[in-house]
Amino acid sequence: MKPIHIVGGGLAGSEAAWQIARRGVPVVLHEMRPVRGTEAHKTESLAELVCSNSFRSDDAEANAVGLLHAEMRMADSLIMRMGDSHQVPAGGALAVDRDGFAAAVTAALEAHPLVSIERGEVAGLPPEEWDSVIVATGPLTSAALADSIRALTGEESLAFFDAIAPIVHFDSIDRSIAWFQSRYDKPGPGGTGADYLNCPMTEAEYNAFVDALLAGDKTEFKDWEASTPYFDGCLPIEVMAERGRETLRHGPMKPVGLTNPNNPTVKAYAIVQLRQDNALGTLYNMVGFQTKLKYGAQTAIFRMIPGLQNAEFARLGGLHRNTFLNSPKLLDPSLRLKAMPRLRFAGQITGCEGYVESASVGLLAGRFAAAERLGEAVSLPPPTTAFGALLGHITGGHIVAEDGPTRSFQPMNVNFGLFPPIEVPKEPGKRLRGAEKTLAKKKALTGRARADAAAWLGLPVA
Ligand code: FAD
Repeated sequence: MKPIHIVGGGLAGSEAAWQIARRGVPVVLHEMRPVRGTEAHKTESLAELVCSNSFRSDDAEANAVGLLHAEMRMADSLIMRMGDSHQVPAGGALAVDRDGFAAAVTAALEAHPLVSIERGEVAGLPPEEWDSVIVATGPLTSAALADSIRALTGEESLAFFDAIAPIVHFDSIDRSIAWFQSRYDKPGPGGTGADYLNCPMTEAEYNAFVDALLAGDKTEFKDWEASTPYFDGCLPIEVMAERGRETLRHGPMKPVGLTNPNNPTVKAYAIVQLRQDNALGTLYNMVGFQTKLKYGAQTAIFRMIPGLQNAEFARLGGLHRNTFLNSPKLLDPSLRLKAMPRLRFAGQITGCEGYVESASVGLLAGRFAAAERLGEAVSLPPPTTAFGALLGHITGGHIVAEDGPTRSFQPMNVNFGLFPPIEVPKEPGKRLRGAEKTLAKKKALTGRARADAAAWLGLPVA
């Protein structure tokens, strides 16, 4: 049997290789490290975790990524198997010993008789004799391959950035100035109506702040970044400031729907909002404040914000390279490139975000490619499962109508917003509200998802 080729031995490529081999189909995994490196990887191991060692929540009942873990375990995921066996204590999250985890994934694939691993860059479109290819080259896809994909698809939107806003330690925020309130007191899902911390500015303070942003030291773009367009929804704040003095006041710093309890009769000219960033409530992120300012400039300029004069930053803002396709337009429902169906895409390059999501899209691509090679029908996961919800996001589930308006495609973690809605079964004499209602809804969604995933995988429904 001809092998399936996989380009990229990261989270997605490793999982795809495993899924293909366990169906009895030979696979060649091409990984460019250590022959050629990336800006983030440090080792030559397959499935290297480039940053945090966390796979996030492992709660399969009330958390969408926890549900994805569960579905991946049902599908005999290599990434989850090795994640579970190299777990380190992390409360309700699944965190792993990164070196042990990556070494175990590498060893499992090296030991598999149907898997060959070739080290070297695929520096352009894969050769024609590779009739079934999975491209899983991730956010840091090598330039030569990215260029050839861009040339093939005719899309100018292959490379983008991930935008990160700064995160502040809660106890360093001056609560005699900043107050809790959601805009128009709207509670939002799971919220109370007072979920944001608000920092007010006078006109003079706002103008001084905009001047500082304009003058602040910015990180220079590297050559390969310079021609890359920004997401419209997350422009760096200094770029917004450059577009006009009032732009920020009409964007992330708009002062509407909020009343300063310390000064209720005077309207703030602009307001900076911070939103809780971790479950403990010890970290708050500055909403809409993604930036390419240098770290020193960020600290100095953000401390000009009233309430943040003594702010301690847990993480400063940044913009990172993140190569991904305009997948809803370019890929078919089983992740094949419409313009060249022998190429299938998987992992973060398809527009999912995160280790677990990337691995899960690798899992799907591997199953689809193996089924195709074996002459079987390709079976798509139901949209009610975490697999299906994520796949729907990538391949066009968000498109309103065939020719209708589409919002611009942005990378996303798995989340409950991607699932079809569900009615929570009513208990006689009991009316659920607020957090209780939200939890009941999540449990209903995850219960349905696990049952549908089991049925899709041909497993007994628990
Ligand atoms: P990767 O895991 O990056 O794997 C792609 C592989 O392809 C790499 O091994 C690369 O060497 C190889 N490759 C690239 N081009 C070629 C080529 N032409 N030929 C052969 N091989 C090639 N996610 C989280 O969940 N948590 C985090 O904390 C986190 N932090 C991140 C920090 C940074 C700086 C970056 C860039 C990303 C981060 N991510 C994080 C996202 C995370 O990297 C991805 O979600 C995940 O690794 C993507 O998996 P992947 O398999 O698609 O790509």
